Amino acid sequence: MELYAGKINKLIEELSALPGIGVKSAGRLAFYLINEPEEHVKRLADAMLDAKRNIRYCKECFTLTDQELCPICSSQKRDHKTIMVVETTRDLAAYEKTGKYEGVYHVLHGAISPLLGIGPGDIRLKELMIRLRGEVDEVIIATNSSLEGETTAMYISKLIKPTGIRCSRIASGVPVGGDLENIDEVTLLRALEGRTPL
Ligand code: ZN
Repeated sequence: MELYAGKINKLIEELSALPGIGVKSAGRLAFYLINEPEEHVKRLADAMLDAKRNIRYCKECFTLTDQELCPICSSQKRDHKTIMVVETTRDLAAYEKTGKYEGVYHVLHGAISPLLGIGPGDIRLKELMIRLRGEVDEVIIATNSSLEGETTAMYISKLIKPTGIRCSRIASGVPVGGDLENIDEVTLLRALEGRTPL
């Protein structure tokens, strides 16, 4: 027997398909939304659609942005010769929150994972190598310390070696398997400052 009307079930089903939302939370959210004024629900729905339609990749660093060049890549105040390589836009945001990193980024959108069949061609590695033809002093590899993150770091360092560009890996203050975005700013900064040459 269905507990709720079909349309509520449908809403709960859609919400529970979101990452980190279980059926219980989905139910709570669904009933919250149903009880909100229509105007608020519409604002939320519009914001989701608007983000989906207008967000694209920065043509330089491939972070998600709504302009051709993201604010970091278009800033004159940033050091464009230092590139920090991260797995996701959320990792970039974590380092930005520290307010202490002055270089630019490169977002891979994933990590190499032979287990999941994700190879070097499936992440934005080729684009990184193209960037390195320009004037670059240092590449800081800040992929996660998971197996995939370490595999990716190793792979990138091997690619960079022949270019003669300085390449470093953030220190392992970041716990193994740790998602960068869940780590506090002090730990992130310590990892950045204690980076080791590769
Ligand atoms: Zn950018």
